[in-house]
Amino acid sequence: MRRYFLGMAANYGGDEWARHTFAWGRQSDYDNLKTYLARRYGGEVFLCKNGRSALALALKTYFEPGDAIIVNGFTCYAVYEAIRAAKMRPVFADISKQDLNFNVDTLSKAMKADGTQIKGIIVQNTLGNPVDIKAIEKFAKEHGLLIIEDLAHAAGVRYKDGREAGKVGVAAIWSFGKDKSIDTISGGALVLRSPCKYEIEAPNKTPKLSDHLRARFYPTFGALCRGLSYIKLGGALMRGLVKIHWVEKSADNALSLSRLPSKYQAKLALAQFKQLRRNGEPPIREFCFVNERDKVLAELQKKGYYFGGFWYEKPVSPKRYYKKVNFPETSCPNAVWVAQHIINLPRYYTRRDLKEARNIIKNHLVECEDE
Ligand SMILES: *Cc1c(COP(=O)(O)O)cnc(C)c1O
Repeated sequence: MRRYFLGMAANYGGDEWARHTFAWGRQSDYDNLKTYLARRYGGEVFLCKNGRSALALALKTYFEPGDAIIVNGFTCYAVYEAIRAAKMRPVFADISKQDLNFNVDTLSKAMKADGTQIKGIIVQNTLGNPVDIKAIEKFAKEHGLLIIEDLAHAAGVRYKDGREAGKVGVAAIWSFGKDKSIDTISGGALVLRSPCKYEIEAPNKTPKLSDHLRARFYPTFGALCRGLSYIKLGGALMRGLVKIHWVEKSADNALSLSRLPSKYQAKLALAQFKQLRRNGEPPIREFCFVNERDKVLAELQKKGYYFGGFWYEKPVSPKRYYKKVNFPETSCPNAVWVAQHIINLPRYYTRRDLKEARNIIKNHLVECEDE
């Protein structure tokens, strides 16, 4: 049984890693993906280096430098980076512990606390759990906010009213990064569904060779590290690869407004889009909350489970960037609590594998209520 997962491209099991590593792409693969997304989501399509670049472009299309944009209080550092790259200002709204999303109550509070005129809202559907879109649409309308849908976790997800995520806002973005709902290790896309206010230039440069190779071989390195972990060398190899930048931490993936993804990534992304279910995707990760998470993770690791991928120990960034974010902890108590207690169960484990892990987790579960 493959118990030793280092979390690295572990969803590229079987021969998936080979399919990724040896995939061949052509110029027409860019066009095919763009045509498909334009038809499915209705709008003008841009392909991007990664999700954060797509989000930055979306923001620059509808907002001006200095504008305030409201975002989920529990989010990815990439979102913060995109807002800063567009020279805008994030306003964090607290979340509910039930679905990890903001709601009309927490949005109102965040807006009041900020006190300035806010221009836009990024809807995130955290881990694939949809927001209450009807209520949020109404709220946005009342306050003159434009909605951008960030579907890094939520490709193919349906809202409760039956609409597919990506068909509601003025724009939608996808990340094709590691462990996202469309996963080609890196890449991203943007659909502009409403006429742009401000002109942007479409990304048109091919990827840097180093980025191209890193993305191509990531699943191979992942398989190698997992294989070697049986003789306790996997962790060391992984640390070495990170050190020489052959493997990159997601938070460090650079934003670029001019680069495209690789052609083969466009091809693989299109195949994954076509496979999304008609009736909506399930969440990308199941989550629960535990006390003394470090201890639980250590216990899990002893049994061969690597559950490190809960994002960070902080609501919006790894510790090393947290100061910069200037996160309003006192107004987002749920997000702070969630970041400290969440564990999520990656989908690449089989149900049988998870049974033992669940038994370990069970003893540490905490009940939760929103503050
Ligand atoms: C990962 C992620 C992104 C963007 O990801 P990239 O790493 O830039 O491709 C955007 N939003 C959310 C919520 C994410 O988790």
